[in-house]
Amino acid sequence: MRPRIAVVGGGLSGLTAAYQLSRDLPDARITVLEASERLGGALHTADFPSGPMELGAEAFIARRPEASDLVTELGLTGSLRHPGTLGPAILTGGRLVPMPAGTMMGLPSEVTALSGLLSTAELARAARETDLPLTWEPGGDVPLGSLVSQRFGPAVVARLVDPMLGGVYAAPSSGLGLRQVVPGLAQALDRGAPNLTAAARELVAQRRPGPVFATLDGGYRLLVDALARSSGALVRTRATCTALHRVGSRYSLAVTGDGGAWVEEADLVVVAVPVPRAAPLLTTAGGLDTADRALSGIRTASSAVVALEVDRALDLPDRSGVLVATDEDVPFKAITFTSRKWPHLDSRPGHLVRVSFGRLDDDDVLASDDAALTRMAESALADLCGSAPLVLHTRVRRWQDALAEIGPGHDTRIAEVRAELAARLPGVELVGGATEGVGVPACIGSARAAARRLAAKWQD
Ligand SMILES: Cc1cc2nc3c(=O)[nH]c(=O)nc-3n(C[C@H](O)[C@H](O)[C@H](O)COP(=O)(O)OP(=O)(O)OC[C@H]3O[C@@H](n4cnc5c(N)ncnc54)[C@H](O)[C@@H]3O)c2cc1C
Repeated sequence: MRPRIAVVGGGLSGLTAAYQLSRDLPDARITVLEASERLGGALHTADFPSGPMELGAEAFIARRPEASDLVTELGLTGSLRHPGTLGPAILTGGRLVPMPAGTMMGLPSEVTALSGLLSTAELARAARETDLPLTWEPGGDVPLGSLVSQRFGPAVVARLVDPMLGGVYAAPSSGLGLRQVVPGLAQALDRGAPNLTAAARELVAQRRPGPVFATLDGGYRLLVDALARSSGALVRTRATCTALHRVGSRYSLAVTGDGGAWVEEADLVVVAVPVPRAAPLLTTAGGLDTADRALSGIRTASSAVVALEVDRALDLPDRSGVLVATDEDVPFKAITFTSRKWPHLDSRPGHLVRVSFGRLDDDDVLASDDAALTRMAESALADLCGSAPLVLHTRVRRWQDALAEIGPGHDTRIAEVRAELAARLPGVELVGGATEGVGVPACIGSARAAARRLAAKWQD
């Protein structure tokens, strides 16, 4: 029998799952249901008059295999591009300080490298980290920010760790699990590293040469289109799944969209929507107490990106971008000098810049309308560059609840959710940003693994 498969959510996770299922179950009839008018979710390449510009994710970690392997498999290797040599600066005390070398997600492997960021007293406090006894339970997890604050002092959290993590999680490191966010560091501590400095030093020494990040010339749209095309799935945009019901060994999905309301029948279901939307779908489907507790406990942050092309007369700092210390009183959290960071974009007529807003529990700035956000972005650039930018083109994109806070023990809770799903809703998989971690490689890995489990189950 040919399986019918419904994929709820046409972002990266849903499309990757559809693609993998089409490989593993070539007979399957796959339908992707996407609530919005476009595929890609947080991968959104817009058209500026001068060429493509990312409004959501702009890169991926190339040292992890998941995204690089998928790009190769889809024949997109020729479009891979890497950043140039410029590093970011940290905005602290009203000035830009180059990001110190030798840090691991903001954790120093050499405290002396932080001299530009910390006062003499703060530096001395951070240097005492190696003298403090460390209590660490192998296999355990703790809030990253609290541990770093206790050991290095709060200034290291505010001026290094939180700015580094803010772009990815939009949550302060006090709510993020050390093992979830920097697993290598937790493993170094498991192996007996005596303190955080030593653990960071171990990881920094193991770094392979070569670029850390990559992107696609032409934008993420290339990946989104290639996945949708190669999956052979029937794609229905403006189709919102509102409920999931088990009917014997199959499932029915209630969908509303442009064409009214209808029901999709499926043997296998992939739920690939952000946690706040996934939790009600799964839990109404069948008394999932663990999933309800675990998923509704995951907090999410919203953000907004103001993308700009500005006249080249503006004298941008000679950095790839600016990360903002959390003790700095400015409304934005990061700025990327996109065309400085990516040499393949530097031939565009203007400078490409992205200004990011929004932190967990601080949505005030996001209540501003698009014109006000754009004014804030322009004024941030004027302050950093010493003159007002001449804006050639601009676009604002808001991301509601898009960034999940991955707290301590998250992986254990997700494993419990998966066990409950397998028992109560066999043939239903949950994938996406808040399951196996945040970011493009994690989503690809999560979606492919879930698709393979479903295919194996069907073939069983
Ligand atoms: C501003 C921003 C910048 C980022 N930058 C990076 C970066 O540079 N590098 C990196 O690795 N990661 C980055 N990320 C994270 C990365 O983009 C995401 O982790 C990833 O794209 C999430 O993909 P997803 O498919 O799981 O979820 P989403 O992209 O959120 O897709 C979910 C889809 O489901 C749809 N949907 C929701 N509810 C329903 C429903 N009921 N029925 C049908 N469809 C529904 C949504 O419309 C959406 O299209 C960034 C994220 C944001 C927001």
